[in-house]
Amino acid sequence: MAVLADPLRLVVGDKAAKRLASLLDLHTVGDLLGYYPRRYDKRGELTDLAGLRDGEYVTVQAEVVSVSARPMRNRSGSIFEAVVTDGQGRLTLTFFGRGRQDWRSAELAPGVQALFSGQVSSFRGKRQLTHPEYELLGAGSSTGRAAEFAAELIAVYPATGQLPSWKIADSVRIAIDVLDVPDDPLPAVVRRRHGLVGYADALRGIHRPVDDADVARSRTRLKWDEAFTLQVLLAQRRLAAASYSAIPRPAVPGGLLAAFNDELPFELTVGQQLAGATIADDLARDHPMHRLLQGEVGSGKTVIALRAMLQVVDAAGQAALLAPTEVLAQQHYRSIASMLGALAMAGQLGGAEHATRLTLLTGSVSAPARRRALLEAASGEAGIVIGTHALLQDRVQFADLGLVVIDEQHRFGVEQRDSLRDKAGDGRPHMLVMTATPIPRTVAMTVFGDLDVSTLTELPLGRSPISTHVVPVSERPHYLARTWERIREEVAAGRQAYVVCPRIGDEAGSGADDELEGDSRVPVAVLDLAAELSAQPLAGVRIGILHGRLAAEEKEKVMLAFADGLVDVLVTTTVVEVGVDVPNAAVMVIMDADRFGVSQLHQLRGRVGRGRDPGLCLLVTCAEGPARARLDAVAGTTDGFALSRIDLEQRREGDVLGTAQAGRKSSLKLLQLLRDEDLIGHARDDATQLVDSDPALAGQPGLAAAVLKLVDAEQTSFLEKA
Ligand code: ADP
Ligand code: MG
Repeated sequence: MAVLADPLRLVVGDKAAKRLASLLDLHTVGDLLGYYPRRYDKRGELTDLAGLRDGEYVTVQAEVVSVSARPMRNRSGSIFEAVVTDGQGRLTLTFFGRGRQDWRSAELAPGVQALFSGQVSSFRGKRQLTHPEYELLGAGSSTGRAAEFAAELIAVYPATGQLPSWKIADSVRIAIDVLDVPDDPLPAVVRRRHGLVGYADALRGIHRPVDDADVARSRTRLKWDEAFTLQVLLAQRRLAAASYSAIPRPAVPGGLLAAFNDELPFELTVGQQLAGATIADDLARDHPMHRLLQGEVGSGKTVIALRAMLQVVDAAGQAALLAPTEVLAQQHYRSIASMLGALAMAGQLGGAEHATRLTLLTGSVSAPARRRALLEAASGEAGIVIGTHALLQDRVQFADLGLVVIDEQHRFGVEQRDSLRDKAGDGRPHMLVMTATPIPRTVAMTVFGDLDVSTLTELPLGRSPISTHVVPVSERPHYLARTWERIREEVAAGRQAYVVCPRIGDEAGSGADDELEGDSRVPVAVLDLAAELSAQPLAGVRIGILHGRLAAEEKEKVMLAFADGLVDVLVTTTVVEVGVDVPNAAVMVIMDADRFGVSQLHQLRGRVGRGRDPGLCLLVTCAEGPARARLDAVAGTTDGFALSRIDLEQRREGDVLGTAQAGRKSSLKLLQLLRDEDLIGHARDDATQLVDSDPALAGQPGLAAAVLKLVDAEQTSFLEKA
């Protein structure tokens, strides 16, 4: 008998084990049984041959129509050909062999049905498989697996050329036959509550189902395993996080925060007040806060974060704000400096009495400025340090880091988060993660499951909603001219505009951008368009250029000029995507908008309408069909959550989880984050309950093993990346 952790060698023999390891990366019995079939063929139901594509490895069920053999021309041996059919289309199988291959004609006689597996190619306009492997179905089967053939459904595995589906099935069958009933990873109470079949049953059912219902039952049960194991791990992490100590940073009356609140030129929205109060409470505790603050662009997250930072500074700690890009770090620095005014001018002329110091630390600050910044961080003089990845470097020390704020979480990996956290020395800093990309609930539960979540659902009062329109240039070319006119009008009225392009242009022969599939038209480039606009439709308008190839100081200079109103129209790539705040910018034109993701477009348009004037966003496109429909969806709603669902449905979930979550991703084989929302919710509730009562999973050996395996997978993917 065997257990899941046994090496495959012991069960299927050396030869098969080697192939499974080298071709499919399967090493243990558990690995193999976790390699689920791609589909199930009904016995006697032939595979549609019309759908085959050249180059694909396929397993097809087909019937032999005719065979022929002829000697090879230049060598000894023969070519044996069999033509098979699905009842309509045909496929030629070609075998090269020694002698006359008479045994083959005996096996593959007309009328015989078999599974054939190989790589599809075309020869003289005919689809063929060269030297496919095959497995006869029914009487006369070479291995005579009576039980297998009695089953109505044939499991078809994702196969490779050298390892056809039924060879995998052979190994699976052996493994299932010798498997000791494993400890069930799902607690009995959870199974009962949700009417789930046992683990051993499910493994058998997914590999060797009796009927469709058997498949469905087994899949549901195994989805539960994926969801539940992950949620148990996350619940354990939450529990562990709660057990770490942190220095409490309760609000101090009469400090910086109070002074800031007094001077705040606006009322906080209800959402801001709620989130702010929750965070203030979190900071006062003696274990670290781990909170995700999500809210639309412009919903006022930065103010909330700043208030949290001031609370920590008041309590004698330091706060670090980490931004994903240089431009954004500088933007934060400028806007926070102006919001704080005298409160951030410690030791300077005009500084307020309890003032602190604000320090910027990015990759591009000059060496002396950098030395000064490092010193201020290490001495504790700087209450608030703002920076990019440079903050993660080893040389950066803090006197007493009490709070880490991370802007735009999705750009950072988990390990970076941890690296900053480690800088706090004793105890851990509190952590606040901000994101403007709204994350559907289940994704938040899965990807950020170890974070608590606060959400800002409303925009500050007086903010006019952005109106968005699609400009279909292929249908109405004159709309484009109208677009530029509109920008002229805005500029004449003293407002500013962004024009976003998918490419920089003038690529130094790299052509990286030009590999855009299925579309020969090269998308609009910043450099080309800027030249065009200043020559014609926008002649006389002050145009600035911003893109990622500019040096950091140059970028900074351009952004500043735009912010100061010295530039009317900024032609740019998506480097403006996050966070840059120019209230006077009222219009954004996005060229070849179909080249961008739905959530990205939503993020981009959040740059306009931040001031008094209503924002306008124009999505210029030549696209039709589904690409156009996506743009209509963006134009049709300003609900970021709805859009991020569209995004998630269209992209592979792996992309959403991000590479930092690779281990987690590979552990989700059956589970779909959107479709299985209810299941994930239930799994989370049950997992939390279980971990509360049995944190070490002492009473659940099967579950403990599954969780350990998941941790291993995460660590492996982490190491592979390092
Ligand atoms: P986010 O970071 O969520 O994109 P910000 O915090 O940058 O949003 O806020 C966007 C703008 O709105 C800033 O200029 C900010 O000062 C302003 N703001 C924030 N909260 C309010 C509010 N309650 N009322 C009016 N304006 C606000
Ligand atoms: Mg922001």
